[in-house]
Amino acid sequence: MCASVDYDVVTIGAGHNGLITSAYLAQAGYRVGVFERRDIVGGAVSTKEVVPGYQFDLGGSAHILIRLTPIVDELELDRYGLTYLELDPMFVAPFPDGDTVFIYRDVDRTANELEQKFPGSGEAYRRFIDDWSGFAQTMKRMFLSSPSPFQLGRQMIFGPSSRLNWKNELRHILRPYGEVVRSYFDEEKVRTPLAWMAAQSGPPPTEPLTGPFVLWHPLYHEGGVARPRGGSGMLTQALRRHIEAHGGDVFTEAPVEEILVERGRAAGIRVNGSIVTSRAVCSATHAKETFDHLLPDAHRPDAADGLRIGNGFGIMLRLALDEPVEYAAHPGREARVGLQLLCRDMNQLHGAYGEFLGGQPSSDPPLVAMTFSAVDDTLAPDGGEVLWLWGQYFPYELSNGNNWDDIAGRIEERLIDQFEQYAPGTRDKIVGRLFQDPEWLESRLGLFRGNVMHLEMGLDQMFSARPALGLSSYRGPVSDLYLTGASTHPGGGIMGAAGRNAARVLLADLS
Ligand SMILES: Cc1cc2nc3c(=O)[nH]c(=O)nc-3n(C[C@H](O)[C@H](O)[C@H](O)COP(=O)(O)OP(=O)(O)OC[C@H]3O[C@@H](n4cnc5c(N)ncnc54)[C@H](O)[C@@H]3O)c2cc1C
Repeated sequence: MCASVDYDVVTIGAGHNGLITSAYLAQAGYRVGVFERRDIVGGAVSTKEVVPGYQFDLGGSAHILIRLTPIVDELELDRYGLTYLELDPMFVAPFPDGDTVFIYRDVDRTANELEQKFPGSGEAYRRFIDDWSGFAQTMKRMFLSSPSPFQLGRQMIFGPSSRLNWKNELRHILRPYGEVVRSYFDEEKVRTPLAWMAAQSGPPPTEPLTGPFVLWHPLYHEGGVARPRGGSGMLTQALRRHIEAHGGDVFTEAPVEEILVERGRAAGIRVNGSIVTSRAVCSATHAKETFDHLLPDAHRPDAADGLRIGNGFGIMLRLALDEPVEYAAHPGREARVGLQLLCRDMNQLHGAYGEFLGGQPSSDPPLVAMTFSAVDDTLAPDGGEVLWLWGQYFPYELSNGNNWDDIAGRIEERLIDQFEQYAPGTRDKIVGRLFQDPEWLESRLGLFRGNVMHLEMGLDQMFSARPALGLSSYRGPVSDLYLTGASTHPGGGIMGAAGRNAARVLLADLS
């Protein structure tokens, strides 16, 4: 299987973060071998033809955070086949009563439309963006550097970015994001889409210390929302081509069984029974996989017991349609371009989370709908549509002795029923489907307990505490072992910052 059994660095796992770390190393002239257990690269950023003629993403689809990083330019990924399609409007919130809220890349256009529909809201939106643009820049800088314990406080107090008094900033940052949107906006139809986007990281709108999930909202206007042409997985395909063009090897169907530790240092891996040696090992898998399954017991860090993985939070139904979606509130293409935020009001979010806490699937789930065939004609046959429905909140572990095999069919229909309230007639257009419940996410993508962010994104597991205190510098519990991926700072999502930050640490140590 292996072209060579000795590398400068072996990377375990070809998720986008592992590939990004490997690409930087290969670009710097190091010999890199990437080992991925699935039959395709990309992990939670991959695309497959699941229904004949229809390309389905298997994980993340909206590329937002990575657009704020220099990764695509630094690695010249356009030369390796990556083309981004911009989604503008970025977000649309159609409501069952016929109102529609659009959030465009341009702040003024967004604010002007809001002001026309809900007097006072446009001005509030402009003030919100003005107030928090500086803080959002600070967040972006922190994402792109290794975390340090006092960084956040130092940036807030001494950082050049803030227009606000830092005591005022702190008050909002410490609040639940649901409170932050309430304090800025009187109109429920403006609050709700902002809170629903913030909820995509996992924590509910009532959780203290989550203000930043909505306070970085100005960054959407800076970087926009985009999609690789051909599907989300075209990012990871381009990364693979980059690594191979720089002399690296990328192996699929290559499950790593063990990290070899010799004289206290990571000396290589055992994969499919073969030994592969290296100067350094970079594990880009879930932290639980690294600590519990790959490291010999003697080197398993105590912190492995404290990882907070949570109980999942979302599920995805991917549908192939033979005709485009048509929203009752706003027929036509404009409503099908960006992320479609289908949540009536904040109470719907609270209700869904309440049921989740009790171990029950939401009976009235808010949805994010996506129809990227509206901007990319490679995803569906002529006249067809891909429709993806992401719903929250859905526990991995169900109460009352239920299991997902028993309820999956019912929940699929529930998501379609919800969508029918916004776009009647969609059910009749369905020609194929894939349902990704929390057990599917765990067994197929290695996302333990269905958490798409690997670990819960609460403040107790962010910055210097991700994956755990003492292990947040991208260096693992034995020397020459490095960690990257969503289990490390700054966490989950298609961003690549963890991959880039880890590469910088590795490059410094190797040289
Ligand atoms: C359904 C879904 C929808 C999402 N939507 C969005 C979205 O729209 N926007 C967004 O920003 N984020 C989204 N996310 C989240 C985002 O996709 C993930 O947080 C992110 O892609 C994680 O990337 P990663 O490289 O850190 O880890 P992973 O993608 O988890 O990569 C880890 C890799 O390691 C491999 N591996 C594990 N163990 C081994 C082993 N022993 N040997 C070899 N290989 C191994 C795995 O197979 C995998 O390929 C979504 C995720 C899912 C699942």
